Amino acid sequence: LSDRLGNVFDRLKGRGALSEQDVRDAMREIRVALLEADVALPVVRRFIDAVTEKAIGQDVLKSVTPGQQVVKIVDDELVAMLGGGEDADPKDRELNFAAKPPVVIMMVGLQGSGKTTTTAKLGRLIKQKHGKKALMASLDVNRPAAQEQLKVLGEQVEVATLPIVEGQQPVDIARRAMESAKLQAADVLLLDTAGRLHVDEALMAEMKAIASVSAPTEVLLVVDSLTGQDAVNVAQSFTGEVPLTGVVLTRMDGDARGGAALSMRYVTGKPIKFAGTGEKLDAIEAFDPKRVAGRILGMGDVVSLVEKAAETIKADEAEALAKKMAQGKFDLEDLRMQLRQMQNMGGLGMLAGMLPGMKKAKAAMAASNMDDRVLLHMDAIIGSMTPKERKRPELMNAKRKKRVAAGSGTDVQTVNKVLKMHQEMGRAMKQIKKMGGLKGLGALFG
Ligand code: GDP
Ligand code: MG
Repeated sequence: LSDRLGNVFDRLKGRGALSEQDVRDAMREIRVALLEADVALPVVRRFIDAVTEKAIGQDVLKSVTPGQQVVKIVDDELVAMLGGGEDADPKDRELNFAAKPPVVIMMVGLQGSGKTTTTAKLGRLIKQKHGKKALMASLDVNRPAAQEQLKVLGEQVEVATLPIVEGQQPVDIARRAMESAKLQAADVLLLDTAGRLHVDEALMAEMKAIASVSAPTEVLLVVDSLTGQDAVNVAQSFTGEVPLTGVVLTRMDGDARGGAALSMRYVTGKPIKFAGTGEKLDAIEAFDPKRVAGRILGMGDVVSLVEKAAETIKADEAEALAKKMAQGKFDLEDLRMQLRQMQNMGGLGMLAGMLPGMKKAKAAMAASNMDDRVLLHMDAIIGSMTPKERKRPELMNAKRKKRVAAGSGTDVQTVNKVLKMHQEMGRAMKQIKKMGGLKGLGALFG
């Protein structure tokens, strides 16, 4: 039986850490995937370097290969990079209306990227979803009938457009639009600007002048998701000239894999707020980082496989620990190992999910006001004990406690807390035995 336990614990340690070779091998595939998804080359390099550094040394879960594990790490990073991490601000996927009305939203981007269409889509959203009054104005005097185009779209979504005055320059139209928005008591003014086939100085000067007369709350860079290697240039040019607040990625309904999203995010540092998903005026969605990450990597199956493996190993760990406790073999050394796993797995909150039956220990932790920083202290405390003390915590008298406190840079009170926690876990263990050992676990843990 102890052999079997030993095996379980070997498994618990996983397959060891990811070696540099594992990571580099897997990264070759990732690199190809990113390039195929049309992520701009300099961005591919920077992303790969950053993730490689992060991945080396991380533990490999059982039942997946190191390569699959790397894919999971890459996917997590990509999602976080695209704004879907745990610490992401949900406001990043909404329009910012926090300004004195009329709140100005300025659309910028290359010709044909979808600015005019997106302007109308947002006008519709602002009216229907936010219940706000919007006015839209086209400042595009370059392309014949560009202003007319916005007017027609405005009629379709039933949002007012600024009357067209022939021969007026963009900055003057912007001023007139501001006046008109105020007079009409519009909440939001959408400014649709002109684009060029390529970024040039005249365009940038025009954008700058418009921004300075209209003081936009949002400046949204509209980018065709099919933009490949040029994405970096486009993003860089606009970033330097106008105060971008976000990006809209259009034509996500096509077969673009969305690499432009990563390029844009890297270069502008601004959130991707929306995705355009069709020519129809309701075809706009909040940007979905998870979905786009999956599309960019094109390895969604592997990612979900690894996620499943992570869940399994969590369950295995809980079971193995329960077994050991039921055997009465849970000493401070085990506690320490458990603490380390807790740190790796996301702290105290995680333990709750891992061992739903550890109510006593959890209560003890809560009672002693423990937070995740305490885990580090606890590790140091157990580390300062002799092996004998770890096996037989009852040896810990006042003198020994003092010694351990000094050795771990904590105090006797904290040492007591650790011992108490171990005791509580021991008590939970006895209860498990009373309930008929492992067979009773279901009842206790349920
Ligand atoms: P602008 O030059 O930046 O103002 O671009 P337009 O708004 O005039 O759009 C150019 C073309 O792209 C039009 O035919 C639009 O219907 C189309 N378009 C814009 N957004 C999308 C989108 O999200 N999906 C698809 N399929 N077509 C789009
Ligand atoms: Mg246009």
